[in-house]
Amino acid sequence: MATFKAVRIDKADKGTTATLTQFDEAELMDGDVTVRVEWSTLNYKDGLAITGKAPVVRRFPMIAGIDFAGTVEQSANPAWKAGDKVICNGWGMGETHLGAYAEKARVNGDWLVRLPDGMSARDAMAVGTAGYTAMLSVLALEKHGLTPKDGPVVVTGAAGGVGSVAIAVLSKLGYHVIASTGRTTEADYLRGLGASEIIDRNELSAPAKPLGKERWAGGVDSVGSTTLANLLAMTKYRGAIAACGLAGGMDLPSSVAPFILRGVCLLGIDSVMCPLDLRKQAWARLATDLDHKKLADITHEISLDQVIGEGAKILAGQVRGRIVVKIP
Ligand code: NDP
Repeated sequence: MATFKAVRIDKADKGTTATLTQFDEAELMDGDVTVRVEWSTLNYKDGLAITGKAPVVRRFPMIAGIDFAGTVEQSANPAWKAGDKVICNGWGMGETHLGAYAEKARVNGDWLVRLPDGMSARDAMAVGTAGYTAMLSVLALEKHGLTPKDGPVVVTGAAGGVGSVAIAVLSKLGYHVIASTGRTTEADYLRGLGASEIIDRNELSAPAKPLGKERWAGGVDSVGSTTLANLLAMTKYRGAIAACGLAGGMDLPSSVAPFILRGVCLLGIDSVMCPLDLRKQAWARLATDLDHKKLADITHEISLDQVIGEGAKILAGQVRGRIVVKIP
């Protein structure tokens, strides 16, 4: 029986359990491409799946992990051949389809994106779903028409994965970036990424008025709830906020005032089922518009057997920047 190492999630009497164990290759799910996984990463959603704090996993047993980079071993899909370097993220991996914290993955070849030239598999996972979501947010703001001359942009959850990459990309594109964080001790870290101003997240966490002073032309929000409501209330005339996260809550206690009185737009960002063309565009832009030295500085590496412990830390907001997971 061929087996490989994996982080397995099982249903328990109360909730779920996560264990690092051997997984039987015969249990891999349907797919036309088998990949040797080399690197993965730890995202907020992975923390939810590992701890069972939210019902992310909808099939048991599950292999956790929502994204990987690796090398194709076998392919029955005409787009791919053995030896191709690929990235996969979302599409239900780690939720409904066996995921990335494993030495092997079998997936639908139509889910894969080719590793961009000049980007290593480790770099791709340093970006990970968090960084790629940050880029989807930037692309949405650009599609809205936002440019650096329109005014400052705000990034919430600044010291987290999405926030850190959003700051690095937006500052490289020439934006004046206002970083909102609960960890003001990380001010040097955030300035190093390219933030021009740091604000305490408490400024944005109280219940929002329908409209506030216009402070920014755009923003990337990974927090949700009252923070997103305040962002909208303080967005300049015809500006836009890309909403991609819920680290502060899933509700949105806002009013229609920013939309109907200032023409503000709320741009929804989903990374999981995002169409392939937009994914390719996002990864290509990440290869050119993200300073890879900065990315390296904000990334730290863990091994597969550390994933379960780190899962709880990301939910507690104790992780700074990005974590890559080396798959043995
Ligand atoms: P991280 O944990 O790395 O970052 C989240 C950051 O949010 C924290 O570092 C912290 O930043 C801030 N934060 C945490 N708790 C609170 C709180 N209670 N109130 C206000 N701010 C808080 O996670 P990621 O960057 O990986 O993901 C961020 C969010 O984006 C998550 O909700 C995740 O589910 C979502 N996401 C959505 C995707 C999509 O497809 N739409 C894809 C990827 C992620 P600081 O310490 O600087 O204040």
